[in-house]
Amino acid sequence: MARRKLVYEGKAKILYEGPEPGTLVQYFKDDATAFNAEKKDVIDGKGVLNNRLSEFFMTGLQRIGVPTHFIKRLNMREQLIRQVEIIPLEVIVRNFAAGTMAKRLGLEEGTPLPRPIVEFSYKDDNLGDPLVPEEYIIAFGWATQQDMDDIVALALRVNDFMAGVMHGVGIKLVDFKIEIGRIWENDFMRLIVADEISPDSCRLWDIETDRKLDKDVFRRDLGDLADAYTEVARRLGVLPKNTTPGPKPTLIN
Ligand code: C5P
Repeated sequence: MARRKLVYEGKAKILYEGPEPGTLVQYFKDDATAFNAEKKDVIDGKGVLNNRLSEFFMTGLQRIGVPTHFIKRLNMREQLIRQVEIIPLEVIVRNFAAGTMAKRLGLEEGTPLPRPIVEFSYKDDNLGDPLVPEEYIIAFGWATQQDMDDIVALALRVNDFMAGVMHGVGIKLVDFKIEIGRIWENDFMRLIVADEISPDSCRLWDIETDRKLDKDVFRRDLGDLADAYTEVARRLGVLPKNTTPGPKPTLIN
């Protein structure tokens, strides 16, 4: 088989040329990074879990009419996706204060927000993805006002879907990040959800205990990251429910 052409390598994923024009193969690595890659590790199995979880969320979104780049999962670590032109923004939706918002405003993590808040960071690792107001985005031509209206509407639909799904399995959706891509169909441009949706890009807390089930486990050294992601996958039925080993045999004297 011919070697595939590498299109882009990021911190957690690799993109290869796909089998048809306009498609790519997205490969999920086991690499975990935080604080703009200052902290790094390899977490066995993370890529497999995120491939499955992103498939689960993207197909669910498509079922309720939210367009995404996902076409199909190819194997344990790869999925076929539509090639898009990524808008250079991290679109963040927050339901509860946490992370940089909690720090910036001096709020206690977990404080409920009066309504979901959508914010934008400019995607640039050298600058540390700075938070930017909509006015910058439009003035610098990264997106138009119409795009921004569509992006906010998409982000809120993703939030409603994700928050509902998570609530159903006893998890609070604190916040998440998505990326949006442009595709052209004949003369029409459409905005669709791209990249990935996984515990790498969401904050997920157990409703009862506030146990963190997302990348903060790695960022803040709170335990085993793969265990946390496996718990999310197990609750969502993405992994077989009974993965815990049975009781050990008892020795009889
Ligand atoms: O760090 P901050 O509080 O701004 O993150 C908000 C949300 O966006 C979190 O769920 C975090 O995991 C996600 N995020 C991300 N990639 C980044 C920055 C934030 O997925 N580069």
